[in-house]
Formats: sequence, structure tokens, C-alpha cells
Amino acid sequence: MGAAILGNLRQMEKITVGWLYADLMNIYGDRGNILTLLKRAEWHGLESRLVELGRGPSAEMDDIDLFFFGGGQDREQALIYDDLREHKQESLTKSVGDGAQILAVCGGYQLLGHYYQTADGARYDGIGLIDVKTEAGKKRFIGDVVVETSIAGMKPHTLVGFENHSGRTFLGPKAKPLGKVIEGKGNNGSDRTEGCVQGGIIGTYLHGSLLPKNPHLADYLIGNAVRRRGGASSLSKLDDSQELDAHDWVLGRAQRR
Ligand code: GLN
Repeated sequence: MGAAILGNLRQMEKITVGWLYADLMNIYGDRGNILTLLKRAEWHGLESRLVELGRGPSAEMDDIDLFFFGGGQDREQALIYDDLREHKQESLTKSVGDGAQILAVCGGYQLLGHYYQTADGARYDGIGLIDVKTEAGKKRFIGDVVVETSIAGMKPHTLVGFENHSGRTFLGPKAKPLGKVIEGKGNNGSDRTEGCVQGGIIGTYLHGSLLPKNPHLADYLIGNAVRRRGGASSLSKLDDSQELDAHDWVLGRAQRR
């Protein structure tokens, strides 16, 4: 009996991170998000494991608590969008329905939506997990971004990062903005929204990488992913002074402009 209880306890303190298309969708420091998730999980006393989910079917999709989907140029998106529909859509939909979390950045964010249309009119159908559509414009949006986030209770209530995209993303009624743009272009350069939140999915244009300078968002995702398996209701408090210094530095630079 003792061993069984111990087994269950060990089970609850584990987190599995799934990295979609690590070889192709990984630009502007996106890998730093994976390092941050694994390291912070460890600092919170959790056992963490990374599974890379490349092209083709994968038997491990159901084990994943937290998926990361990075950015990629049009060329890379063209190489994976069919695979996403054929081999990932069904299990991603099921996993998110079971409480798994997804963080998707830029090109990954676009392909979780209904479609991404390039500047020369090529259309890459997405998997419609989030209610957004994206059409590229002629001019790329490049530079620092500061966002006032709408996620309740998040402290600080700002997110900082770097954007570089031609896509203009528009949210449908089911998707809520991740936040309001204070600095930068965000989703489309016109409605002052940035990213989206829909169920356990967060989409954003923030590269940089995002999570090292936004530890509060990393813990938000880790906390939700751990709770999914009946784990601790709250994570331990970490000393994030260095991370938040970097955060504040970007805030200051963006505001000095
Ligand atoms: N190719 C997409 C665009 O240009 C995504 C770019 C990216 O992931 N940074 O909008």
C-alpha cells in the first residue's frame, strides 16, 4: 500500500514538455523557452522531461503536459503545415481537451489558427485549434514589444519580447487577446491587441526568447500543466530578480524610444 501512494505522489510531481518541430520551427531564440520551462520546473522541485515531436506520427503525444511550438519563416511553415494536420491535429485537440497547455510563438501561433496566407498569396491551412486567421502584409513588423497582459493575477502585468513577422493576425469571437500593445505592432498593427488566449492555449508574436524575461508567464504555464495531473495547486516562489531586471530593462528601452 505505502509504495502505491508514493508512486502516485511521484506521478503528480512530473511534467513532460513536448517541442513541436524543434528542427524547423525555432527562430529568434525560441529554444530559450524550452530551456526556461525545463529549468524552472526543476527549480520548483518537479521532475521534467523533454520530448521532441518532429514530422510524422508520434506515440508520445498523450504524455505531453505542455507543448511548445516555435516560429519559422514561410519556407519552414510550408514544410510542416501538412504534417501538423495529418499527424498532430487530432492528438493536440484531445490533449488540450484534457487540460494540456500550448505555448505557440509567431509561425506556430499562426498555424494553430484557421490559416496563414503569405504575402504572395500561398495559403497554409492551420488546424483551427484557436479562432484566429492570418494574412501577411508587404511590410514586416520588427522590433521590441511591450504588452499589458489580460491574464488575471499575473504580476508583473507586462510581457516583453521581440517581434519579426509579416503576418497580420485577426481574432475571432472564441479567442481573447493575450494583452494590449503598449509598444510595437502585435497581432496586426491596427487593433492594438497582441497574441491570444483560448482555453489552455497561448499564442503570441513575442520572440526573444519570451520566457527568460517573463518568468511569470513560464510559471503560469507550468502551474496549469502540473495541476492537470492533480499536482500542487501552487508553485514554490523563486528568486526572479535577474529575470525581472532583464524584463524591466526591455521595458525601459522600449519606453525611452
Ligand atoms: N512566416 C511568418 C511571418 O512572417 C512567421 C514568422 C515568424 O515565425 N517569426 O509572419
